[in-house]
Amino acid sequence: MTATNGSEHFDVIVVGAGPAGSAAALLAARAGLKVILIERGEYPGAKNVSGAVFYGSTILNQLIPEWWEQAPVERHVCRRELVLMSPTTSVSLDFRSAAEGYVQPPYNGFTVLRPKFDRWFAAQAEAAGAFLLTSTVVDDLLWDGPQVVGVKTRRDEGDIRGDVVIACDGVNSWLARKAGLQRELHTHELSLGVKEVIGLDEGLIRQRFQLAGDEGMALEYVGAVTEAVHGGAFLYTNRNSLSLGVLAQLSSLVEHKKRPYDLLETFKAHPAVAPLVRGGTLREYSAHLIPESGWNMMPALFSDGLMVAGDAAAFCLATGIYIEGINYAMQSGLAAAEAAILACRRKEFSRYTLSHYMEALRQRNVLTDFQAYRHAPGFVNGERLQNLYPQLAALGGEALFRVDGNRKQKLLPLYWRTLRQVGAKPRHVLQDLYQVARAYLW
Ligand SMILES: Cc1cc2nc3c(=O)[nH]c(=O)nc-3n(C[C@H](O)[C@H](O)[C@H](O)COP(=O)(O)OP(=O)(O)OC[C@H]3O[C@@H](n4cnc5c(N)ncnc54)[C@H](O)[C@@H]3O)c2cc1C
Repeated sequence: MTATNGSEHFDVIVVGAGPAGSAAALLAARAGLKVILIERGEYPGAKNVSGAVFYGSTILNQLIPEWWEQAPVERHVCRRELVLMSPTTSVSLDFRSAAEGYVQPPYNGFTVLRPKFDRWFAAQAEAAGAFLLTSTVVDDLLWDGPQVVGVKTRRDEGDIRGDVVIACDGVNSWLARKAGLQRELHTHELSLGVKEVIGLDEGLIRQRFQLAGDEGMALEYVGAVTEAVHGGAFLYTNRNSLSLGVLAQLSSLVEHKKRPYDLLETFKAHPAVAPLVRGGTLREYSAHLIPESGWNMMPALFSDGLMVAGDAAAFCLATGIYIEGINYAMQSGLAAAEAAILACRRKEFSRYTLSHYMEALRQRNVLTDFQAYRHAPGFVNGERLQNLYPQLAALGGEALFRVDGNRKQKLLPLYWRTLRQVGAKPRHVLQDLYQVARAYLW
């Protein structure tokens, strides 16, 4: 992509062509603003990693009606399974629906491969009039006193000036830190995701996961799948491949001196997973950080001339039940674009005008969702939920379903015995029930 001539001025500069950046650029360009979308990768998506199930179908449908007809999607998700693992056993909650949104469009979720999907989405922003500049790293912000007035790139004549900068530069947002909006992140707030794409015959995928046509499945795992390390795993069906990976809390990885790749191998070898991936061939391997603490690690979201969106703003909802970042990245990118459009109309780019971003985030349910689930990440990464309860469920299941001629126990004494077997204290169970209620029920 050709460079700008260095003296050009833009209404909006968007840094990062992931889902947050392309959404922001698309909406701002459609409003008639002069927009530049700057991406360090050779093309949008080249360096981006997700599972990935995209749950923002209805959001995107408002921007691009029936978008799935033209976008590179893999399968629509009509089946989800949450699996608790011990080293040898698994207990799962299997959800399948024939309701609207699961078997007919607009579907609730699609599996996607990010290099293809991000490239397509950025092309929609270009088609709306945004100028896409790839292979360009943004290094710093340009200032006029307290006001951000552009960005510095690693190019000859690298300064690009603009009225509003939207930082969509991902989890390790250099720009949010440069502007003093984000602090140094702690290792307990971040997880490392390692992922493989494994090629598998389309027919085998349908057979193994009991799917028809373009139906897809999302499986998420907690417990011994990451050994003693706090984390989880996922397995998603694509058209003719599987995306699977392990998410491991950074501080816990260091504490237990584990290598993420070894955890991924343990996951693939688990008796509940091995039959699903058997015979597949490795196509891709990638790794990426995830901002897991959501609300508790959120930076200040705007200042004079600058807004922060997507993972850069920690808008990734990782609650054990949900791992949703792409949809919130889009929603926050759109909210930032709305504030930028207002600022350009008023020709006033101070923090007072850009504070409209907060209102737009609330209207799009971004802040509300993260606030509501603010206790969930801490609970999910707690020791007992990670290691003790999955083992309890597994041992309980083994005892419940074993037929060996001994007297059958009723449920309460059976679970009481299992509780003692795994070393769970009743007062801890009561405390955790309260934590579950606080994190998920009200
Ligand atoms: C293993 C894994 C599994 C996941 N699974 C899911 C899932 O199934 N569903 C889901 O919804 N979410 C999932 N997520 C989370 C999701 O990937 C993120 O929340 C989402 O990608 C955030 O989008 P974004 O646009 O904010 O950032 P990103 O997608 O990270 O995009 C940031 C962009 O900015 C560019 N960039 C960065 N710095 C610069 C710079 N200085 N100059 C120029 N360009 C720059 C990058 O190259 C990149 O293109 C997963 C994450 C991981 C790691």
